[in-house]
Amino acid sequence: MKPTPTSPPELAPLLAFGAHPDDIEFSIGGIVAQEVALGRRVHFVVCSRGEAGTHGSPALRTKEAKKAAEILGASIEFMRLDGDAHLEIKARHAIKLAAVIRRIRPVVIVAPTVVPTQHPDHWRLGTLVRDAARLARFGGMKELRKNPPHAIGQLFFYALSPNAEPTGVTPVIVDISRAHIVTSWKSAMEAHASQMKTRNYLELQLARARMHGLASGVGHAQLLFPDAPIVFESLAAISRAAQRF
Ligand SMILES: [Zn+2]
Repeated sequence: MKPTPTSPPELAPLLAFGAHPDDIEFSIGGIVAQEVALGRRVHFVVCSRGEAGTHGSPALRTKEAKKAAEILGASIEFMRLDGDAHLEIKARHAIKLAAVIRRIRPVVIVAPTVVPTQHPDHWRLGTLVRDAARLARFGGMKELRKNPPHAIGQLFFYALSPNAEPTGVTPVIVDISRAHIVTSWKSAMEAHASQMKTRNYLELQLARARMHGLASGVGHAQLLFPDAPIVFESLAAISRAAQRF
């Protein structure tokens, strides 16, 4: 039998949700830069303007987030839910997020982990996004009729800090070692200058990526925690990175 030619997988958009203006960049900015470099559209949905933060006005935080998204090559929109530090789990929020999923139609979604030992907005947003991914599929949702139902391929959770990493979930490790990827990620974090007045989060996140890289045999790596089992269409998707020890 003649083998059928394989076509490259369609690069459907990646949709990233953040509770605060800098969450996506500090957690998975390298992954974003990498996906953009591969030709994928990445869209950020930021669900507050950081108005409860100690440093930086909402206007400044918005400006910094827009600059960071631009550096990474992502598009960005802001969504008002309950406001910074006030986010609650409500069906109407999940429906609003589901409407974005139907509009952008991603294969991959990323959101904060649902581990409660972190900023409450983070795990609540992760919970809302998980609900939204389900609601986006349901044909009978009256509020979502503007766009047809949409099923995603995978929801991944990201952890802004080690204590937000879920236990018992094997992460997917993304190699972000290429020099221009790390440079772009660093610049995106530097764009959030108002948030580095108390601690050098840039250095901390870089050290974390180095540590994950060390554990996986690459220079820098970032983790994603899958919400559901990952199904490979082919074993070709498995890289040789883990065999470099
Ligand atoms: Zn945050």
